[in-house]
Parts: sequence; structure tokens; C-alpha cells
Amino acid sequence: MILLSGGTGTPKLLAGIRKIIPEEEITVIVNTAEDTHVSGNLVCPDIDTVLYLFADSIDTTKWWGIRDDTFASNEALRRVGHQEIMRIGDRDRATHILRSELLREGRTLTEATCELAQRFGISATILPMTDQEVATQIITPDGEMHFQEYWITHGGEPDALSVRIHGIEEAVPSDAVLSAFDNDDSVIIGPSNPITSIGPILRLHGMREILREKQVVAISPIIGSAPVSGPAGKLMRACGYDVSSAGVLECYRDLPDVFVIDREDLDIGTEIDGARIVRADTMMTSVEKSVALSRLVVDLFGT
Ligand code: GDP
Repeated sequence: MILLSGGTGTPKLLAGIRKIIPEEEITVIVNTAEDTHVSGNLVCPDIDTVLYLFADSIDTTKWWGIRDDTFASNEALRRVGHQEIMRIGDRDRATHILRSELLREGRTLTEATCELAQRFGISATILPMTDQEVATQIITPDGEMHFQEYWITHGGEPDALSVRIHGIEEAVPSDAVLSAFDNDDSVIIGPSNPITSIGPILRLHGMREILREKQVVAISPIIGSAPVSGPAGKLMRACGYDVSSAGVLECYRDLPDVFVIDREDLDIGTEIDGARIVRADTMMTSVEKSVALSRLVVDLFGT
């Protein structure tokens, strides 16, 4: 089973998927367009969350960082006048240091991620979507800024006029991503931000062509006219999409064979442009709810 993932909604689903599918049979292709350097180390927010989920150390109150982490290094830096864009925990920073060290030794991001996963004792395959650098930039009335600056420094407050993904035109899926698709025909597009998390994955060269040949089940991250969390609504609007499950399906266009929307959502019929619409409780407020949704999603394959 292959999942396309960002760093919150799909990891919540993965918390259930890993309870019903053997971990060795799970491949997660993760967005890297939100990656950024903090104090000299490469932070991959979405990859880190997926790593920590499988390592049973994710902080599920925030869906980023390590549970019960301490912040001594961040506070020490602040005391000497160095304010970090993100409040990086000490153990979390250890991951970033090791990743950056591996990259400095000449490993690719894919190799560094697999090495981290192995050292954390993870048997699922966690793959960055690409080894090339891509960066999501938000265009605001005051200029263009990196997604993390927009979301963390400015709290997602400025108007978003459009979204640009630098480097995406030249970016290709890594070899590891391509061979994962050679061996697996079942793909879940998790309930992640369709613009900043799933969007960059789908825009990689050749990705849509690959997915068109697969059985794809997508889950909507929007319930009614709002996302469960995060800036998806504002950014969908900035890109010209309606903030609704129908708008999400428009982003994915012809890819999903089945599109799962919340049972509380507006009735959008039983089929749109070839995608069968299935209603379910998609609000994952506990592991039990993640497992229930995962079971429903996995059972949709082959139906
Ligand atoms: P990011 O990388 O941290 O932005 O995280 P993602 O893109 O993976 O996830 C953000 C999206 O997940 C948001 O659009 C949320 O609406 C969605 N999301 C978060 N929790 C849930 C949930 O329990 N159910 C559903 N359906 N969507 C969720």
C-alpha cells in the first residue's frame, strides 16, 4: 500500500493503517516542499512527523515534534540573541543534525531518510517525494515568502494571493519512489493539504501519469467549507478552488477512483467525473477512529 502524505492529516490516518497492514507493506511518499534549514540543519517537517509516528514518539497534541521533548537548545540560542523560526525540541534537533550530517557526507535525502528510519527501528518505507530541492512560496500583498515564514512567523495571517512551488518544474520523483510504484498498484491520497502537501507530489514530473494507472482512493481533508486544521482553505481559495470536498476533487481531477468525504459533508452525489463518492466518519480524533477509517479505506480497494 502506498500513501501520499503531508505532515498532519495523513499521519493521523497512518496511525490506523499501521494497525491493519503489516508495516513492511506500507510505503509513504512524503511532501518535501515545506522543508527548510533551521540553525544550520535541514528540517523536513512532514518526513519528521511520519518518522516519529512510526517510531511511536510523535506528539499527537500538535502532530509535529517528539512527545515530552525538552527545549533547552532552543532557549539557550534565544538567550544569546538567536531566535529560531521554529521552536525545535532537543531530541527533534538530534534528528535534524543526523540528517544534515548524512547529507554533508554525500547521501541523498532518500538515503538519509531510510537511514533515519532504520536507526529508529521502523520497517515501513518512508520516501521523500524527490531528492531535488523544491520550496513552497506564498505570494502575499507584501511580497513572496517561504511557506514556513507565512505559516509560523506570520501565523498564516497575511492574505494569500497565490502559491508558487519553486523548483517543481525540474523536479522528478526519486528512483525509490518510481520503484515503489513498480511493485504496488494501490495508492491512498491521504487527507492532507491539497495545495501544499499533495499538490507538490502530484506536480512532480510524470507523477499524474503513474497514478492514472493505479487504483487510487483519496480522502478529503475538508469537511463542509473548512479544513479540519491548517491553512488549506485560504490556500485553496488563493489557487482558485472552492473550499469544499468538491474543490479538493477538482485539485486531484481524474486521479481518484474512489473519493471519501465526511458523512457530515454536503451531499455531492455518488459519482463525480468517474470517482465514486463514499461517505464516512473522517474525523480522526482517536487511534480507534483512525483504525475505523483505515479499515473502510483499505476495504475499498478491489471493490
Ligand atoms: P501539514 O503538512 O502539517 O500541513 O499537514 P497535512 O497536509 O498532512 O494535513 C493538513 C490537512 O489535514 C488539513 O487540510 C486538515 O483539514 C486535514 N486533517 C487534519 N486532521 C484531519 C482529520 O482528522 N480528518 C480529515 N478528514 N482531515 C484532517
